[in-house]
Amino acid sequence: MITVYLACGGLIFTALLGFVLFIAHYLTFSGYLAFIFLGTFLAALTPPFVWLLLGLFFGSAIFIHAIKKVASNQFDTIGKKGAKRDAKQLLANSLPVLVAGLLAQFFPATFNWSEIMTALIAVSSADTWASEIGMLAKGDPYNILTLKKVATGLSGGVSLLGTFAAIGGSFLIAATYAGGIFLFTPISFQPATFWQPFLLGVLGMFVDSLLGSALQSKYRCVVCHQITEQEYHHNKPCQLVHGLKFIDNDIVNLLTGFTVLVITMFI
Ligand SMILES: [Zn+2]
Repeated sequence: MITVYLACGGLIFTALLGFVLFIAHYLTFSGYLAFIFLGTFLAALTPPFVWLLLGLFFGSAIFIHAIKKVASNQFDTIGKKGAKRDAKQLLANSLPVLVAGLLAQFFPATFNWSEIMTALIAVSSADTWASEIGMLAKGDPYNILTLKKVATGLSGGVSLLGTFAAIGGSFLIAATYAGGIFLFTPISFQPATFWQPFLLGVLGMFVDSLLGSALQSKYRCVVCHQITEQEYHHNKPCQLVHGLKFIDNDIVNLLTGFTVLVITMFI
């Protein structure tokens, strides 16, 4: 019965908050619907700290994007998406957490689900911080597989600044979780409460870069010959030069989430 109340609470809360975000252009309409879906099921299946951490992650992503927008007027011609979150993007970052919440209902005592869910959110946070802040690095990043220089903003590229940003993004989530455990249930706090989700978050960023480098679709513009993740450039369809057509950044994030979920369940 409590589950039903929680689900209703999540539904009403996300419907209202999502409406504000939709009006403020932070969500597309499909993103708004996905936001309500995720809010309702996460409220029913996961403990409240998970919503708090997800809120912190999405909040930090919006904050970093806003700061960047003020700092530079550069237009991103390489990455696929802007600041607006659509359904695919939200689901890519949240479905693994939802699946973990569902598994936790069936096997509650088998794994430390709280830490697993925290690690999954830390991965999303590390990856988002790395790509948003890494884009500001002065030199071109290196492809994680070939170690060749690639254009800034392309998936699979890693830079020193991006790696530090990933550490920051993972730290924010893992430290907030560990801090909460320390404050509210100090008896179950151990150093691993922090460092396990923290390290998994950073590891996840590298898994994401590896998968992005190996599988993600990249295109060449037929007009300016730039390598891009956008299917259209200069209003013309681009040529696929690398990866699989249906694998974009969102699919890579989703694959990364499930890879980390499997890794965490085995350690
Ligand atoms: Zn072009």
